[in-house]
Amino acid sequence: MFAEVVVDIKSSNTDRVYTYRIPEGMDIKVGMRVSVPFNNRFIEGYVISTTDNASYSVDKIKDIHRILDSYSIFDEKMIELAKWMKEYYKCYFSEALQTIMPVGIKQGEKKVKVVKINIDEIPFQLSKRAPKQYEILQYLKNRSPIRLSELVKVLNIDYGVIRSLQNKGYIEIYEEEVLRFSVKDIEKTKPLLLTEEQQKAVEEVKSSILTGTFDKYLLFGVTGSGKTEVYLQLIDEAIKIGKSAIVLVPEISLTPQTIERFVSRFGNRVAVIHSGLSPGERFDEWRKVKNGLVDVVVGVRNAVFAPFNNLGLIIIDEEHETTYKQSDLRPKYNAKEVAEKRCEIEKAVLVMASATPSLETYYKANKGEYKLIRLTKRINVSMPQIEVVNMSEELASGNTSIFSRKLFSYIKENLKRKEQTILFLNRRGYSSFVSCRDCGYVPKCPNCDISLTYHFEDKKLVCHYCGYEETMKETCPKCGSKRIRYLGIGTERVENDIKKFFPNARVLRMDVDTTRKKGSHEKIFYDFRNGKADILIGTQMISKGFDIPNVTLVGVILADITLNLPDFRSSERTFQLLTQVAGRAGRGEKPGRVVIQTYEDDHYSIVTAKQQNYVKFYNEEIKYREIFRYPPFSHLMNIVISGEEEEEVKNTAANTYLTCQKLINKLQNKSYNKILGPAPAPISKINNRYRWQVILKSEDRNILTEIAEEIQKMKYPKDIRIAVDIDPLNIM
Ligand code: ADP
Ligand code: ZN
Ligand code: ZN
Repeated sequence: MFAEVVVDIKSSNTDRVYTYRIPEGMDIKVGMRVSVPFNNRFIEGYVISTTDNASYSVDKIKDIHRILDSYSIFDEKMIELAKWMKEYYKCYFSEALQTIMPVGIKQGEKKVKVVKINIDEIPFQLSKRAPKQYEILQYLKNRSPIRLSELVKVLNIDYGVIRSLQNKGYIEIYEEEVLRFSVKDIEKTKPLLLTEEQQKAVEEVKSSILTGTFDKYLLFGVTGSGKTEVYLQLIDEAIKIGKSAIVLVPEISLTPQTIERFVSRFGNRVAVIHSGLSPGERFDEWRKVKNGLVDVVVGVRNAVFAPFNNLGLIIIDEEHETTYKQSDLRPKYNAKEVAEKRCEIEKAVLVMASATPSLETYYKANKGEYKLIRLTKRINVSMPQIEVVNMSEELASGNTSIFSRKLFSYIKENLKRKEQTILFLNRRGYSSFVSCRDCGYVPKCPNCDISLTYHFEDKKLVCHYCGYEETMKETCPKCGSKRIRYLGIGTERVENDIKKFFPNARVLRMDVDTTRKKGSHEKIFYDFRNGKADILIGTQMISKGFDIPNVTLVGVILADITLNLPDFRSSERTFQLLTQVAGRAGRGEKPGRVVIQTYEDDHYSIVTAKQQNYVKFYNEEIKYREIFRYPPFSHLMNIVISGEEEEEVKNTAANTYLTCQKLINKLQNKSYNKILGPAPAPISKINNRYRWQVILKSEDRNILTEIAEEIQKMKYPKDIRIAVDIDPLNIM
């Protein structure tokens, strides 16, 4: 017997299938991870098929060295999915397989050392005498039992300390196959009695689930229309006939509240996958699915690969979110497309849902590619009232504060009524740049082509791209002036000003800076929901998934930040963000109010957001897309060329452009094709690497993939990196 094996080497030369002999007695199954000899060493490989006849001269074929796990990682359907990804995203086969594979599998499922705390009260005197031991015990208090390796990594400790704790009997270490259930016991909820609209939605999708038909739906429902309850009941239907379901949610809306809603319905038959999990924890969740211990996975992007073998349904919540696209690593896949393909392979049902569908999705729904289901009404409550304030007019009438008079008075009223307020601003830090009033000097990052953001709390200037920081100086380094101007407000500034104007208000802030520590996100959320604060200030982290009845006011401090990004999707992003944040107001019995502050109050994104009219926004936006032939009227491909030598980058970009042109001519395609560039990328330097880009537009996606393949096969100067992104969601 022979096995066809994909080897773990990332190069175009080795991106093919190799034949190995299966030694007598070795129980090889398709989908297994194996070790194989390759150029005088052993490397990892993946068995994608077995055969009796080798297509290759038999005496040259080498033996598989050994099997790495006791079971198959991929079933046939997943291998088919990987093949599709390889072709669709033009990545290596091994990359596609490794994307599907759980991170953490390399540690294996061997027994691991587990630490368990043995005492109920942590001796306080330890905090002085042995602070590290104290820290470890504190950490273990809520997390025990935990893997030793994880403990060591998280707290950065050496084994000596562990041994002392063990000798004192404070902790116990034993070997175990760990499979933690991250899910806490919470009260079960019963299915709600559905509204008429919800009922219709459930009935329609249910029929596809029951017949096992590959149907694709767009559930277009306004914020608060009860989409989640629809998901829950659909999953229930799938489970009843022995099938399982995957629910994809964007990272930022994987809030404790979202998880709670699934767990309270399905108990520990739910696995949760989020990016805060360690590789080991992720592997645990993966095995729960593999071993049939759960029926539902709720998770971010890569949960789409959950290894169910009887998938009935994939739900994509907030389908317009950009986090479904993997933009930083290869393959640059979009979980929405993968989900669609997976449903096709498994004959499962796809439900994409949003209050603000992406233009591409709504366009396809209009054309009948997706079945459109609408939820037009909020459950029991009315939509919030939205007001727009023009900030130039505020300035003209003498108000220089970052709060308009209207928003200010509403905040004041809310504080008096003991109702809660959310203030949204999509930028963190204190001010996005500082400049000298006298000479105009603006401090920039020495590694990136970007101005430094001022962080008030630690008096630092920080680069949001590479993390570079420096202490903020009191005088201008160029002319010595003390007159520094703070421009471009961020969430820290909002917090600062709120505290100045409302010293008695209890304020919380949620952004990247306040949620670095594990669990801090949850803490801020629960504190706010439990009424421990009056005002929550935050970036887009707070725009979704928050369902807090006492929030009756939402203020958008400046809508223009997203509107002015150099990206053809900036209007769409702005409309989506505004609609989503506005949707946080008035979800309880008390009516909600929303104030949007902007300098561009006549922009259609803002006007239609105020009217809460998605279709009107869509009709306006789709016109521009058609005129300029942007998606959905074309596919884009972004090629970024980067390197440390500016000249070399520039020359390579010019060559890349020419190659693209030649290829397009050669392919002699009748479709619309256009090459933009070569030009410096909007952020022209990151981490000391210069960046140029070439953007291709084509009606025919196959043109782009063919070019992608050619471009990636070519030889480049040593330091040059080429990153190709087909259907990018970010072209900065
Ligand atoms: P969406 O996801 O569409 O924004 P949610 O699913 O968060 O909306 O629903 C909004 C609120 O309405 C939630 O508090 C939810 O519990 C409640 N809800 C949903 N469906 C029903 C129903 N059929 N009867 C009563 N309350 C419901
Ligand atoms: Zn100066
Ligand atoms: Zn930088």
